[in-house]
Amino acid sequence: MNKPLILLSLFAFVILSSCNNAQIPENEAKIITVSILPQKTILEEIAGDKFQVNVLIPEEGNHETYEPTARQMAETGKSVAYFKLGHLDFELNWLDKLVKNYPEMKVVNTSKRLELIVGEEIVHGDHVHAGGVDPHIWLSVSAVKLQAENMTKGLMELDPENAEFFEANLTRFSASLDSLDQQIREILATSGTRSFMIYHPSLGYFARDYNLEQIAIEQEGKEPSPAYMKQLIDIAAEKNIGTIFVSSQFNKQSALTIAGQINAKVEEFNPISPDWHNNMLSIARQIAGSSR
Ligand SMILES: [Zn+2]
Repeated sequence: MNKPLILLSLFAFVILSSCNNAQIPENEAKIITVSILPQKTILEEIAGDKFQVNVLIPEEGNHETYEPTARQMAETGKSVAYFKLGHLDFELNWLDKLVKNYPEMKVVNTSKRLELIVGEEIVHGDHVHAGGVDPHIWLSVSAVKLQAENMTKGLMELDPENAEFFEANLTRFSASLDSLDQQIREILATSGTRSFMIYHPSLGYFARDYNLEQIAIEQEGKEPSPAYMKQLIDIAAEKNIGTIFVSSQFNKQSALTIAGQINAKVEEFNPISPDWHNNMLSIARQIAGSSR
């Protein structure tokens, strides 16, 4: 090889390898992590193909008690951002640690500006829940509308070049939420259901949206006391409760006991189904049909 040829091939090598180097970090920079599957579904409506969305809690996982594996934590550290729900125990327990280890990762709080349901402060053994904030903001169409707006803002900050694309997706998604909300109102209007009973109270925002009363069996995240169980049986009879709802990832025993006492049925639903839109409709139908 003569000298110019060597230089040329060296030059080509440098160009090729620098292209490769430029591509790898860019692909890696495209991951956003979220806590649960419905968030992924919603975020993808806005982000389209501009980001890859990684979910920490699997569908069979319990959204209150799940613990990420060391491998999941390390994987999550490669994300450009974490879009948090904001008040899920899982996030309160793990996210700070994650952020400390991966300070480059941006955290976007998708519950910003939301009117949160705040209960009494709940003491859970060694830790106190943050003012007892109801974390289930993804099971409400109106709350999801705000989350989608917060997501859009977060995406625009991460990727300003695609701001118009995200805005257009938000407009389209918001319109679909309006029609979903209308459908749910129609489903509920034709039923006489005003109260429903549920083991783990994940439908507080749903109940608020549609003026329903959610009666929870679980007490402060724990199994109900025998005295409260007795009270619940009376309430269920008084409010014509014909169905008790349980999340598929939770214990069904106390729901079955109450159902047996008042001759009601127990119906499962999945609060973290990835098919968010149809899940909201199916929850509305289940509640509509839950009275005697
Ligand atoms: Zn929950």
